Amino acid sequence: MEIKKIGVVGAGTMGNGIAQVASQIGLEVVMRDIQDSFVERGLKSIDKFLSKSVEKGKLQAAEKDKIMGRIKGTTKFADLKDVDYVVEAVIEDLTLKKQVFKELDEICRPEVILSSNTSSMSITEIAAATKRPDKVCGMHFFNPVPLMKLVEIIRGYATSDETVAVSTELAKKMGKVTVEVKKDSPGFIVNRIMIPHMVEAIKIVEEGIASIQDVDIAVKNGLNYPMGPFELMDLTGIDIAYFVNEYLHKELSKELKFVSPNLLKTMVRANRLGRKTGGGWYDSGGK
Ligand code: NAD
Repeated sequence: MEIKKIGVVGAGTMGNGIAQVASQIGLEVVMRDIQDSFVERGLKSIDKFLSKSVEKGKLQAAEKDKIMGRIKGTTKFADLKDVDYVVEAVIEDLTLKKQVFKELDEICRPEVILSSNTSSMSITEIAAATKRPDKVCGMHFFNPVPLMKLVEIIRGYATSDETVAVSTELAKKMGKVTVEVKKDSPGFIVNRIMIPHMVEAIKIVEEGIASIQDVDIAVKNGLNYPMGPFELMDLTGIDIAYFVNEYLHKELSKELKFVSPNLLKTMVRANRLGRKTGGGWYDSGGK
């Protein structure tokens, strides 16, 4: 089946980025969120990104209008009924994701692939909420989606070779580099490597060994990473680092390295809405 129209569930940081890259390759996009204001915010974010590209001379204004014109924002689940492929990008909550997949399974045609942008969670468990587990896979984009090259394609227990092939081809059309995660394992590749290094960074600050700034300076200059762990968490969301770490801790035999530091818990609690309220490591004064 040719993919002409794609459904994106969630218009947040990742959802609107995925909607943008899908539209940029000429697909019709239906981007669904639960409130008009969230849909509007998602559309505005895409508009802002594309406007900057126009200002920089990287994109024609007419092309920008076409990209925006192919994206339909909606709060109605029913608008997803005629899409040819779905990427789910709601918050990192397994119960919510399972509910969304159950609803997608009821509304989308049986041949449609349902993929999840989950950062860490079990594709097999998400797929079990549907009657088409062979057509469910992980399609893990990175933030910011229009700029980051990688997409991890993740197999659940029942994911078919065709689902992997179609999803890989779609990601490649979007200009992405793909890797296949052959086993449904928590955190996949990148987050399994990245989250423990964030946790160690927080523990170094918590133990008073170095400041937030100095940890970032050390990692950037000593490991040649483009961003330090605290800068990266401020970009991706402290809450996501916490949710993913808690999930890895629960799933990976409670290995000590995955115990969330108290300082991370305090940041998440003090700042319940995470980066949405603008509260990051650097807003805390870098102490
Ligand atoms: P976000 O909080 O920015 O956006 C999530 C959106 O989902 C919100 O707008 C929310 O209103 C919406 N939502 C909630 N329930 C919904 C429903 N039933 N139907 C439609 N929309 C619904 O979160 P995000 O950062 O975009 O993360 C989304 C997913 O992508 C998570 O699974 C996350 O782990 C993963 N992810 C995040 C990053 C990152 O750096 N932020 C990177 C890779 C993967």
